[in-house]
Amino acid sequence: MSPYRNLEEYNIKITDEVKSRYKTIITELGEDASREGLIKTPERAAKAMQFLTQGYHTDAAEILKSAMFKEDYSDMVIIKDIELYSLCEHHILPFFGKAHIAYIPDGHIVGLSKIPRVVDVFARRLQVQERLTHDILECINNTLKPKGVAVVIEASHMCMMMRGVQKQNSVTTTSGFRGQFEKIETRNEFLKLISSDLS
Ligand SMILES: [Zn+2]
Repeated sequence: MSPYRNLEEYNIKITDEVKSRYKTIITELGEDASREGLIKTPERAAKAMQFLTQGYHTDAAEILKSAMFKEDYSDMVIIKDIELYSLCEHHILPFFGKAHIAYIPDGHIVGLSKIPRVVDVFARRLQVQERLTHDILECINNTLKPKGVAVVIEASHMCMMMRGVQKQNSVTTTSGFRGQFEKIETRNEFLKLISSDLS
């Protein structure tokens, strides 16, 4: 099942404001905003943008706190290949890819489905990949207080692929490590596990 929930309710005032601006933008770009195919586009785009930026209204720490359990397990927990869709804050174009996250519990574990939700909360904003990586890392570190956290994100950026340099196949990798993952052996074990097909 997709980790993405549908935002069912849209703020009417925001939808109207954004819609009227999209209509202006479409016209300024040289289109006829009143032709049949575009007539409902400003409203659809206004709703899509609210959906894609809904992370501003959700507290990621609360999501983790809602499913933390006391547990003595103290081996590495890895959630890999978490789908990720975000918007680059420089061009408001998508970047997308995968996040791989690990933590080493220190008395508490968290419901596994909560980690992809934390990714969503920070991805559904205007972002840069570096800050997205850091936001996820710090949220897990500060809330779960594990012995260590690791976050690796691999993403393709439409602003690079569709315009400018047109590096179609380039993937940007960012990573962050806290606690025990700052030790080279632990970090290497994690990197080896996320690059293997056995999981
Ligand atoms: Zn960009």
